[in-house]
Amino acid sequence: MNTRVYLNEWFINAGIIGFLRILKHNEQDFVIIKDNYIEFDTNNIKDFHKYYFKYFFDKYNIAQKMENRIEKSFNKIESLLQNKEQKDTLKQEKKSIKEILKKQLDKIKKIDEETYEEMFEEYSRIDKVSTSEELKQIKDNLIHNFKKEYINKKITLNLFKNILSKNCFGQQSFLNVVKNSLPYEEQENIMYKDYISNIIEMETLQEIVAGKYSIEEIKEKLEQKISDESIYKDIKDIYTKINKNFVRKNKTINEISNFINNEALNTCSMCGKEHCTTSAYTEGNFIPLAVSSENMKNFFWEQNINIQICDICKLILFCIPAGVTNIIKTAKENGKYIEKEILSFVNYDTSVENLLKTNNSFGIESKKERTQYNPYADLILDIINQNAKVSEWQLKNIFVVEFESEYLAYSRMEYFNIKSYVAKLFTKYPEMLTNIKDYKYRIQVVDYLLKDKDIDKLVNQRLRDAISNKNNTTDSYLATKVKVTLQVLKKGEVLMNDEVKSANKQIGLMYAIGQEIKETLKRQNNDNKLDGYIYKMLNCIKTNNRNEFTDVAIRILWSMGKDVPQILVKNNENVEWQELGHSFIAGLSSNIINNKGDKDNG
Ligand SMILES: [Zn+2]
Repeated sequence: MNTRVYLNEWFINAGIIGFLRILKHNEQDFVIIKDNYIEFDTNNIKDFHKYYFKYFFDKYNIAQKMENRIEKSFNKIESLLQNKEQKDTLKQEKKSIKEILKKQLDKIKKIDEETYEEMFEEYSRIDKVSTSEELKQIKDNLIHNFKKEYINKKITLNLFKNILSKNCFGQQSFLNVVKNSLPYEEQENIMYKDYISNIIEMETLQEIVAGKYSIEEIKEKLEQKISDESIYKDIKDIYTKINKNFVRKNKTINEISNFINNEALNTCSMCGKEHCTTSAYTEGNFIPLAVSSENMKNFFWEQNINIQICDICKLILFCIPAGVTNIIKTAKENGKYIEKEILSFVNYDTSVENLLKTNNSFGIESKKERTQYNPYADLILDIINQNAKVSEWQLKNIFVVEFESEYLAYSRMEYFNIKSYVAKLFTKYPEMLTNIKDYKYRIQVVDYLLKDKDIDKLVNQRLRDAISNKNNTTDSYLATKVKVTLQVLKKGEVLMNDEVKSANKQIGLMYAIGQEIKETLKRQNNDNKLDGYIYKMLNCIKTNNRNEFTDVAIRILWSMGKDVPQILVKNNENVEWQELGHSFIAGLSSNIINNKGDKDNG
């Protein structure tokens, strides 16, 4: 049975991304990805519970993580053993790895006492270890025990169950702690029963309606299904009713079909699909939903507890944890700053493919940079880069959902609220940003744009730094162009292409004049004398002292035998004197010779 899942609200989209990631991790490629939906044959998800477990098992694999951690720590200890002067560091390292080991050993104690004893003995040797051979023995023994399959399966499963349960689904299905004592495979089967079997059985119901079976065959099928332990109870209820009220009472196939279509099957309140098997929506379908979305208010209208959601939607929601990205955020709690792990998802109106790409690279970037930069500035840049045709409207409707939903503690949506003119700059002149070479600086510029902060301040500081570190100032010139372009776009509702060009031309002119002066002085080995003037001009811009700035600039121009450009002394329509000043300074402090700026293009 072919089924489609359409992009919808953010939580469905996050689920679709998770569903696709789980399949990709298991090298399954049966899903057809279209612009605004995915499509697959439900028979192909017969083993989805196994894929699901494998995805999270591999993501949280404790033996793997402990091996890496022990390797790293023991290497450090080994090198510290040789070094008598670093006794304290050695002590500290031993202490920290022991703390990590202890946590896991406590878990293993409950699973296998014997293995625990063995590991505890090795653990106790760490304090007195004195040779590399001893160290290696301890390491090998510990890792060997961590890797025992029944141990690793149990502790890893318990870990990811705990995470899924507390962030997203509470005590649903196999996540219930009561099931912790069951073997791994049996817990997989519980997932099959609760999340997959109903989707698979839907096909049988459809076949009955389509008249594929005779009454005799239906009877046989029902008897077998009713005793099948792996089928979800709601579906079994339907089978039991068909059997009791129709088959045994010698009703016709038509009457059975009527019952299936009009009574057994429902319309999904979430995706709007008709004639599907549904179950009553509960908080356990996805905890953060209850508080996360304004749009969901209708959904919870008048505490209507009998909201039906279809089994496909239920499964898709169950995939959300694989669709979101874990990011670290610094948050203030009880007056103290703490690092918190937040789950987040980027949503905007685009194709499934782009949504996947964006969220994949968002995951990579936020891992790489942690809290160093604003991950959202990076995200916007990434979207502009990968999708040149992104529209102003799409950009303005991007948002990131963040949740740390342990008992609904924290859950919110961060809309970027990108202003129209900023969105226009991103979509019409993306190269202005991407041309800025220094990645960190580029991110800062985007961050300033998103927060509607004055880029002049950023440029001023950067040029100031360039005096001492002799860095290239081309990027500052480009940032100044971003600033004037933004100013022009701020004014106009219609296309401002000519105005943007002419404003950028003026900026380019000042940059070029600055560069020429710098070149001449450099040839005379005299360019160091500029530093004092540059510093003075930067201060004038910062303190908004136009008169003094113009005095200094004119002095430099005259001393070099250059005319004073009109734009420097009169008021210009679209360009402020501060930006002309910054581009002049960027030229004066540039260290790239023979790069005349770009006088002509915008
Ligand atoms: Zn649905």
